[in-house]
Amino acid sequence: MKPYYITTAIDYSNGDPHVGHALEKVGADALARWHRLRGEPVRFIMGMDENAQKVIQAAEAAGRTPAEWLDAMSERFDATWRRLECSHDDWIRTTEPRHVRGVTALIEAIRARNPDDLYVGEYEGLYCVGCEEFKSESQIRDGRCIEHPSRDLIPTRERNTFFRLSRWRDPVLAAIRSGAFRVEPAIRRNEVLRVLEDGLQDISISRGRLPWGIPFPGAADQTVYVWFDALINYLSVTGYPDAGYDGLWPADLHVIGKGITRFHCIVWPAMLLAAGVPLPHMVWAHGYVQWGGAKVSKSEGTSVSIDSAIARHGPDALRWFLLREIGFENDGDFSFERFDARYDGDLANGLGNLVARVTAMIEKYWNGVVPAGPAPAEPLDAAGDRCLAEYTAAMDAIDLKGGAAAISQLVSEANGYIVATAPWALAKAGEDARLDFVLGPLARCLLRLSVMASPFMPAKAQAMWTALGQERSPEGAWRVAQQPDVAGARIAKPENLFPKPATS
Ligand SMILES: [Zn+2]
Repeated sequence: MKPYYITTAIDYSNGDPHVGHALEKVGADALARWHRLRGEPVRFIMGMDENAQKVIQAAEAAGRTPAEWLDAMSERFDATWRRLECSHDDWIRTTEPRHVRGVTALIEAIRARNPDDLYVGEYEGLYCVGCEEFKSESQIRDGRCIEHPSRDLIPTRERNTFFRLSRWRDPVLAAIRSGAFRVEPAIRRNEVLRVLEDGLQDISISRGRLPWGIPFPGAADQTVYVWFDALINYLSVTGYPDAGYDGLWPADLHVIGKGITRFHCIVWPAMLLAAGVPLPHMVWAHGYVQWGGAKVSKSEGTSVSIDSAIARHGPDALRWFLLREIGFENDGDFSFERFDARYDGDLANGLGNLVARVTAMIEKYWNGVVPAGPAPAEPLDAAGDRCLAEYTAAMDAIDLKGGAAAISQLVSEANGYIVATAPWALAKAGEDARLDFVLGPLARCLLRLSVMASPFMPAKAQAMWTALGQERSPEGAWRVAQQPDVAGARIAKPENLFPKPATS
């Protein structure tokens, strides 16, 4: 069975990772975990874009050689994503020989299959080093790049190799319209369709006189334009052009930010079509994390460090906040006030309190062994089925905010059930049979929640799972979420999952 192959955009090695990058990584990780949860084999790839001009500028500014700088950056980014519990299976760096080989092979495949698609010409235009691309009129506001208003655009004139992108407009348009190549969400698809309908210009894909980058095949004095090179990482990491690369390719999902849809939804499919390589199934373009209404970006001075955000309430809570509050479709504001409010409301007073109450009652009233309860027909079981169905539909639609909301909904149903059934009153009245009937469904609900929470908060979900006397991990335990059975399990007193910070 071909693994579900999911990628994130690769990061520039020009500074520290910030929460703007983190949304994409934890969102993609939650999706990778969602597919693993249901027993699918998954291949999840992240990596670094190391051939950009601005990488070299950053290395120089730091007084390091490019190689030293790149190694340090690669380690820092990878370690940061691991701290946020990202479960990537491989880490591709575009300075690696396997990538250089893939880039060379793809360009040669285009040349062999469609020789007219590569031609030499002269280009003159305004270049944004932030984007590493020439900007067209519609991408410039007040003489500045819309994505990088603090940088100067550089007038540039070069003799380069061009890729005949214009020729691939109709096939790309047809692939998107037919759904063979999906661009989601719809707002991004419509933007991409408008660009395609307006017509495409050919793009320059080599650069002269740059001291850094991949040599352009057949043009020794030129390097491959960094975007053309970077996109190919998704393919080179599969082992392309070696036989067997199609055991992984085509990608099922490229997760990217909304600012780079032109490359991923127009240039990339055109490159693949020209080379005779199948198209990926889907590109998902998420919105931006904002800070006081501005895009979080190091170059714009509006970044929030991941260390400070993790220090606030821990990595699981940060993942939860980004996906529950900001979500994976539109822009959303990051603020520590909102982070604190989500932490207190959803986690400390919500899920954490529920786990503490239920396990304490089983400990106190039932000697720490989960009672059987009735057959799963209690209102809480039915509510669990409903929330699980909503959760499933949302996760399949890459609506991570909706998936998280379904978890919160079930937590609130369970807390309401405790209030309505008042187990402590049943215990006091010595009504063991009815108490059994209440604690059983509550324990089932917790077990189900631990599985549902695992793509969002892997460590806390594991702690819940273990507290319910379960072995191994909730990963792959989708059947347990559908039909939770925890009767007879011995409760292990859980840690305080979401402690209240001393300051709040
Ligand atoms: Zn720019």
